[in-house]
Amino acid sequence: MKTPRIGFVSLGCPKALVDSERILTKLRAEGYSLVPTYQDADLVVVNTCGFIDAAVEESLEAIGEALRENGKVIVTGCLGVRESEIRARHPQVLKVTGAHAYEEVVEAVHEHLPPLHDPFVDLLPPEGIKLTPRHYAYLKISEGCNHRCTFCIIPSLRGNLVSRPIGEVMAEAERLVAAGVKELLVVSQDTSAYGVDLKHRTDFWGGRPLKTRFYDLAKALAELGVWVRMHYVYPYPHVDDVIPLMAEGKILPYLDIPFQHASARILKLMKRPAAAENILSRIAEWRRICPELVLRSTFIVGFPGETEADFEQLLAFLQEAQLDRVGCFTYSPVKGAAANNLPDPVPEAVKEERLARFMAAQAEISASRLQSKIGRRETVLVDEVVEEGAVARSRADAPEIDGQVFIDGATHLKVGDWAEVIFEEADDHDLWAHLADH
Ligand code: SF4
Repeated sequence: MKTPRIGFVSLGCPKALVDSERILTKLRAEGYSLVPTYQDADLVVVNTCGFIDAAVEESLEAIGEALRENGKVIVTGCLGVRESEIRARHPQVLKVTGAHAYEEVVEAVHEHLPPLHDPFVDLLPPEGIKLTPRHYAYLKISEGCNHRCTFCIIPSLRGNLVSRPIGEVMAEAERLVAAGVKELLVVSQDTSAYGVDLKHRTDFWGGRPLKTRFYDLAKALAELGVWVRMHYVYPYPHVDDVIPLMAEGKILPYLDIPFQHASARILKLMKRPAAAENILSRIAEWRRICPELVLRSTFIVGFPGETEADFEQLLAFLQEAQLDRVGCFTYSPVKGAAANNLPDPVPEAVKEERLARFMAAQAEISASRLQSKIGRRETVLVDEVVEEGAVARSRADAPEIDGQVFIDGATHLKVGDWAEVIFEEADDHDLWAHLADH
């Protein structure tokens, strides 16, 4: 009997990637095989993103391509809540399901491409199917979000915060590490709120009681002996508690904190979590405890009502905060977002001009922070080996979004190796290094 073959297109953020991995793990457990081309597939699943308009268009195009090249298409993911829009453009799709609807997707696959009677359960590796390279993996600790930032529709797509019990998260982390993963990237919509919905309930890992709470998770993950990187952390007061773990080298001295703005007025209009915290003095204190701390953030310029004075406050914040890595977007309205109804939209040309000024100011800061690393010895993790040498990442660099470390000539290294290097050069984004023992 022929194995049913699935093609899978995964779009969107790391959180969507984790959803894709879950769906694939389930299908693979049932005996489906995963194939890399439309032509080889009996059916294609497209996991979409609906966060901003550009992502919606990309998702609709991906659905169109899958229909042209294969013809049997099931759509899932964030865009799934806008089924009428998908059907208006692509009436032939077999089924549309929303984000976080694993069972529904799997049922739709069963309906249109039945599984074999005797599932090849033993073909499934215990760590599940990973779409990231084997040496790093995203660890999703919760779904949804209790906040209602006015520019964001994620809570309406994914619902309120639902945390996974800490025992379950730790068991998954342990399996990943046993399968060779060297770096765990903790993701969610709001990592520091982990466990709030469960009232920080006690759960068990290896027979040991642990509270379902951000600090306890960080401390337990630190015991696994791999890099642990925290993403999407909001600066609630209890975030201070994990900084000593970073200073002691237990988890990576890295915090991805989406600040989005620095003007109190704009943050209020955005309804941002933890907006009232005094960020600059917190950052100073964190760096005092952990001088190695790397801070990454994202910002939005041109939010409705942003005045030149608000924007200048943001630039002054950048100078003071000296963040290591920063992403910035101009505000663009997302269908269904509350911010669309705010008065005083900022003209496009002003948004673009502010973006350029922001990026120029931050480029200098990022470059000087990287320059200060020249001459330092550090351990890096190899992501890729090419003809000229190895491409690695330092503790300061998350995959896909931050910089890289190029080690010329180190072609003997393998993907997933640790290497001791000395940084010798830097540009605005990346570092060049040689092996410490050469
Ligand atoms: S914290 Fe705000 S931006 Fe982040 S998912 Fe929740 S509502 Fe959206």
